[in-house]
Amino acid sequence: MLTRESVFRQIDADRVIPLQELVGVLYDNHLRMPLRFCRRGREYDVVELLGAFRESSTPPCMLYLVRVREGTVFALYLDLTESVELGGQTVWRGQWVLHFQVEEGETMLVDIRLKQIADFHGHLCPDLALGYRVSQYALERLTLPLMSGALLRVIVENTTSAVDAIQHMTGCTLGNRRLLVRDWGKHAYTFICGEEEGLRLALRPGILPENPEMAELEGKIQAGQATLLETARYQTLLDQRIAFILETPAEVLFSARYLPVGWPSDQSATALAFCEVCGEPVLETHLILQNGHRCCLACVSGPMPTRWGV
Ligand SMILES: [Zn+2]
Ligand SMILES: [Zn+2]
Repeated sequence: MLTRESVFRQIDADRVIPLQELVGVLYDNHLRMPLRFCRRGREYDVVELLGAFRESSTPPCMLYLVRVREGTVFALYLDLTESVELGGQTVWRGQWVLHFQVEEGETMLVDIRLKQIADFHGHLCPDLALGYRVSQYALERLTLPLMSGALLRVIVENTTSAVDAIQHMTGCTLGNRRLLVRDWGKHAYTFICGEEEGLRLALRPGILPENPEMAELEGKIQAGQATLLETARYQTLLDQRIAFILETPAEVLFSARYLPVGWPSDQSATALAFCEVCGEPVLETHLILQNGHRCCLACVSGPMPTRWGV
């Protein structure tokens, strides 16, 4: 079955079967999506909405990219042709058109390890490819100490998709406490193999130049204003960036240097106590004494800050 990204790749490469057939559609006004359509006497159940695109505003035209139960992806649009004024409101009349079907067949070939990482992460994106390349490079350079049984640990300086690739490639995860996150928003990664020295690999300045077309399309997509073809074009630009990251020699992408590092002492206690404010069980090591009460960090610092959506 085509992934969402592959669907856009196929559309941008014009690998679609044009249909232009009138169909009957069961539309859910609350979910604002088609639930079912009837084509030549056969019913197709929609199981996934891959995108809704405002293709034009006058007349209003919405295009829906849907996956049906059989796995096939179709583009459907409501063609509004006639408007009448009713009680001061414009009421449109229209018909549903089954626009095209997306051809099957994966078009982006990546190596099997990267495929596994993309499955774990949910999609293939430039940051994931960067995380993959940087860990591959580090593991190659640290082959000898790793062969002699040294334990690998990693400090990452961002919280992008790259971190998922690093965890998958190195086995160093937040949960096993061999991954330390210092979110400084940098594509820099320090691989520590042994005691006090780490190999810091950092993305070289200017190696991934800003692409104005990509930035413009990204802005439109985030604002919900991109058309289907713009969204598909964006996927192609992403793919080009991913291909560049995968094909460029690692020493061209990343600078490398060894530097002294510290690692916080391991507080892996599992004993639980109770916060005297909210009553929830908390790791004992995480309790704070405030005004004579033992509190959890959440109760001391208020609601958890979130950077999502910024
Ligand atoms: Zn990603
Ligand atoms: Zn609490």
